[in-house]
Order: sequence, then structure tokens, then C-alpha cells
Amino acid sequence: MSQYWSPLVHDLEPYVPGEQPKMADLVKLNTNENPFGPSPKVLEAIRSELNDSLRLYPDPEGESLRRTIADYHGVSPEQVFLGNGSDEVLAHIFQALFQHGEPVLFPDISYSFYPVYCGLYRIEARPVPVTESFEIDPEDYRQANGGIIFPNPNAPTGRFLALDKVEAILRANPDRVVVVDEAYVDFGGDSAIPLVDRYPNLLVCQTLSKARSLAGLRVGFAIAQAELIEALNRVKNSFNSYPLDRLALAGAKAAFEDEAWFRRCREAVIHERERVTSALEGLGFEVLPSKANFVFARHPGRSGSELARGLRGQGIIVRHFDKPRIRDFLRITIGTTEQNDALIRGLQTL
Ligand code: PMP
Repeated sequence: MSQYWSPLVHDLEPYVPGEQPKMADLVKLNTNENPFGPSPKVLEAIRSELNDSLRLYPDPEGESLRRTIADYHGVSPEQVFLGNGSDEVLAHIFQALFQHGEPVLFPDISYSFYPVYCGLYRIEARPVPVTESFEIDPEDYRQANGGIIFPNPNAPTGRFLALDKVEAILRANPDRVVVVDEAYVDFGGDSAIPLVDRYPNLLVCQTLSKARSLAGLRVGFAIAQAELIEALNRVKNSFNSYPLDRLALAGAKAAFEDEAWFRRCREAVIHERERVTSALEGLGFEVLPSKANFVFARHPGRSGSELARGLRGQGIIVRHFDKPRIRDFLRITIGTTEQNDALIRGLQTL
């Protein structure tokens, strides 16, 4: 606390990011990164951008990358907004598209950055409990009287909400913006992007951090009808006109141009996810059905915190959740075959 701080800062409860340990030989299954690394073409594109042009500002509109993403997803460049990771895109969404004096509804359980942004932008957070089976029920979002945001697949549960149910939420709230945060959609879910043309209240947010293995490059984007994107651009240009640097613009563009690499990594993660799920079930865990690059699991007879501590002792890091609705769950990122084998062996010995 300091007399120099603004009252806003006194009240903030910031998001706490997952641990990023320095030891390279740890099996790091705690922050949902992709174990396979970016496409070699991405590295090549970044290397060729390492030249004298770095003295120049990047394109503030990221025109070339926006066109690439627009073509990839079958929309126009005016429908694409870029940000420094989807966390930054989400920050702009909270500021530009959620109304003061109205709540924002999101599932309780969900991405813990949403309440943080509510605090930052002085918006009332209204968590809506998920069902007993950890699903989002569209009935709970009928005439919401506020903005709506949810991850699909949800985090940290991994549960996917079918698109007809997403549409039910959109149809019930034509006057409110509905944000679908698709950070994990590439691991078996269906994207809501094809619905954007039909729903002016829909905004879809995606990231290159997960399926495209570029968490370190910090690139996220939103797709919606041009009117919503224009609001995000106004906020962006009042905050940081250059959210993406030259290396990020070049690397991200190359990532969309290597579809074969993207598919191979994605299939490998999905295959390993099913293998890890069966192995955990074999060890007596209850595992939620996941369409993400992680699984959410608990053991009826074992303490999650002890298991997480035991794994840590073997150099394997997973994330332990112990909140009212998710007592003693482990969230385990899907790693390489070798990392997953180490996880399974580790659990067998505990
Ligand atoms: N949304 C969800 C649901 C996430 O889990 C994450 C990753 N922590 C993000 C958004 C942000 O991802 P990034 O900023 O790396 O794009």
C-alpha cells in the first residue's frame, strides 16, 4: 500500500500466472503450452525479419497478418483484430464491448482472468455456476441483462459446449455481446467463427499460444462483424497502436502458412490426451471429457495436493485446483509421449 497509488490499484486483485520454473529438465505440464514447438517455417520467418528494419515501427494495423487470418477463416480483414496474446485482446473486449452499469456473466468455473478484468474496468462480475457435470447450461444465460463471456472448450475443465447451444445463448441475447474464448478450440472442438456472419452480437477470440505453439510470441486475435472490431480498434489506438512487433507479425503469419505442421501437432496432442485419459482412469481417477490440450482429473481416494507435491518431487509439475466447486482437482497439460509416460509412471509410484 502506498499513498502514491491510485485507489484503483489499492483494490486490484491481479491474476497470478502459472509457474514458469527455470530448470529446463522439469516435465512442465502446468500451463497448457504445446510440447511440440513452433513450425520451422515460423523460426525461419522470424530469423529473416532480424535485420535493419527493426529500427522502423511495425505496421500498426498488422495488415498482412490480418489478411492471412481472414483468408484462413473465410472472413474479411475488417473482421479481424490482433492483440499481444489473447489476454490483451480480452482486456480490450472488456473495455470496449461490456457496458458500465451492467454485469458480465461468465461460468463459475472458468478462466480466472475474467474477474480480474472486471475489477480493472469496474464492471460487476456475475459468475454463473456450471452444472453438476461441469457443463455450461444455455438456460442459465437466458436474457442475461449483461455481456457474456466463456471459454469453449472451457478452462480448466476442458468441457466443450456444442455449437447449437452456443447459438441458443446468442439468440437469447441479441442486444448483448457474447464472447466465445476459443483458446483451446483446435484440439477437437468446433469453432463458432462460421456463425459470425449470422450473429452481430458474437465475437470469437483465439490465440496462437496453444495449437500453434507460440505462447512466447504473444499473438491473439478476435473475429466478429466489422462493427464490433471497430470498437476494439478504437480502444487499441487509445492504448498501444503497435500491439504486435515485427517478429511477432512475421512469425504468426508463417504459422498460418504451415497447415501440415499445425495438423500434425494437433493430432499428436489429441492422441496423447486420449492415452493419458485412459491411463488416469486405469489408476482410479475421475477424468472430465476434454477437448483441450489438458485434462482435469481427481482421485476419489487420494489428496490432489499430495499427488501434485509427490509429482513435483519427481520433477513433474501439474496444476492443483482446490476451490469450492473444484475441490482437489489436478489440471494436467498434455505433453510429449515421453513426458506423459513420466507422468503416468510417477503417479503409479505415489
Ligand atoms: N483464454 C483462456 C481460456 C486461457 O486459458 C488462456 C491462457 N492462459 C488465454 C485466454 C490467454 O492466452 P494468450 O494470452 O497466451 O493468448
